[in-house]
Amino acid sequence: MEHSQNKITIAIDGYSSCGKSTLAKALSKHLNYIFIDTGAMYRGVTYFALKNGIIDSEGKINQEQLENEIEHIELNFGEQEANGSRALFVNGVDASEAIRSLEISNYVSEIAAIECVRTQLVKQQQVLGENGGVVLDGRDIGTVVFPNAGLKLFITASPEIRAQRRYNELKAKDSNVDLEAIRANLKHRDLIDTTRKIGPLVQATDAIVIDNSDLNQEEQFELALSYFYKACQQNSNIASDCNY
Ligand code: C5P
Repeated sequence: MEHSQNKITIAIDGYSSCGKSTLAKALSKHLNYIFIDTGAMYRGVTYFALKNGIIDSEGKINQEQLENEIEHIELNFGEQEANGSRALFVNGVDASEAIRSLEISNYVSEIAAIECVRTQLVKQQQVLGENGGVVLDGRDIGTVVFPNAGLKLFITASPEIRAQRRYNELKAKDSNVDLEAIRANLKHRDLIDTTRKIGPLVQATDAIVIDNSDLNQEEQFELALSYFYKACQQNSNIASDCNY
């Protein structure tokens, strides 16, 4: 139920590689809220699909097989054994590193457009966040998953800046990354995400837009936090949340 334990739900939506997760992580840490990276869940399903032949060598998706298997794909957030950082387990296997690869990025939006996938993951996200005190980042959080969220942010940045940020992030782990391929992938995902029939990426009418093209992480965090305080003040039921 929304606002139980005096904690609100924070919905962060926006385009690919806008820094939504970074912001969500920082807010959840500061507020002692639970962070739910919903993009990681769609990536987890894509990882499963690639590992189990649901996506064939030519990139074709077997939707019937996916429909049969979707309820058996178990996604759990936990900690990576090696360094204790956040992990996503897919049927017990730590897929945290693998889900960030360009291969997964190249298929994830097609997988995320499939009805049974969205139905299943939206349901899981609603259960994970049902008690409030959560920050979720994704594409449809403020419109579909938690339309009554206490605070909705819509994050954007220029395509060039987004591509460069993602490049820098991947380059730190793999020297073979290609800026052009990343640029193309972001464009491809934005197109599918904004035009799909179910749960498309669209700004909720009551979302606050943050364009972070010219903001650093700290500035964005401070701005978002100020919106959080305002959201608290607007609802006296949750005023105790403002004492952070
Ligand atoms: O957030 P991230 O870039 O990791 O998300 C990967 C993909 O998962 C997105 O491009 C989108 O296709 C899909 N997604 C979605 N709905 C969400 C979160 C992610 O469709 N709530």
